[in-house]
Formats: sequence, C-alpha cells, structure tokens
Amino acid sequence: MSSETGETICSSTGTELSRAAADELSEIASTPASADSSPPSPSHRRGGRWRCPADVAPMVQDMGLITCVSCDRRLPGSLVYQLIQVPDHPR
Ligand SMILES: [Zn+2]
Repeated sequence: MSSETGETICSSTGTELSRAAADELSEIASTPASADSSPPSPSHRRGGRWRCPADVAPMVQDMGLITCVSCDRRLPGSLVYQLIQVPDHPR
C-alpha cells in the first residue's frame, strides 16, 4: 500500500481504493489476526481474487469469508463490498 495526494493505490494490483476502504485495510494489516471477530456471511459470496493487506499473500473465499492463507486475517463483508465497487479492478 502507498498513499499519495490522498489517494491510496493497492501496491499489488494498482487499484485505486476509497479512503475508507484503505483505512480499514490498514487497520486489518496492523491488527493481530485473532482480533478479528466478524461473523461469517455465507449469503454474500463474492467473486474475484484477493490479496492480504498485511503480507500480500493470496486470500481464499470460504463460506463468504475472505481469509488469508498465510496469516488467517479476514476481510469483513462490509469492506469487501467497498472493494468490489472499484471499477475495472484488474484480475
Ligand atoms: Zn496475510
């Protein structure tokens, strides 16, 4: 992640993120994985591929949760929703 002139660009995909999404990603990255207690939301399956905001490891989708294969951090559904609104996100 890097921030320039208020915009945050995902360092792995080059995608411009909203400020709120970027802040939330930063918070996840700086929080121990065990601190996340977001409930699963199986009805909200999302497509696409995900990268961990902390270590850029691939993340897998399981039962509606986006989970890092490396550190077990999870992306909450509310954040995933913000991220999928980014148009033309490279795959
Ligand atoms: Zn990770």
